[in-house]
Amino acid sequence: MKVTVDHDLCIGDAICESIAPDVFELRDDGLAWVIVETVEEDRREDMEESVDACPTDAIIIFEDDDEIDERLLASIDPQ
Ligand code: SF4
Repeated sequence: MKVTVDHDLCIGDAICESIAPDVFELRDDGLAWVIVETVEEDRREDMEESVDACPTDAIIIFEDDDEIDERLLASIDPQ
């Protein structure tokens, strides 16, 4: 699966990073970034917990066949 963060909605409270620091990273711009190109299936539970915990509904899970808007794709930035 892929996970994205809508940067128009993210308020940078780092809840997602506290749940899954291997997937989300809060950066100096005050936004959460996704630091893996794809998220392994065994991380799904934490991804769903992140979606539920995000106060602004900024996190979206996409399945492998889904089309993803370029704007959302830009939040995926592996180092
Ligand atoms: S939980 Fe949501 S609002 Fe908070 S940093 Fe993560 S994506 Fe942004």
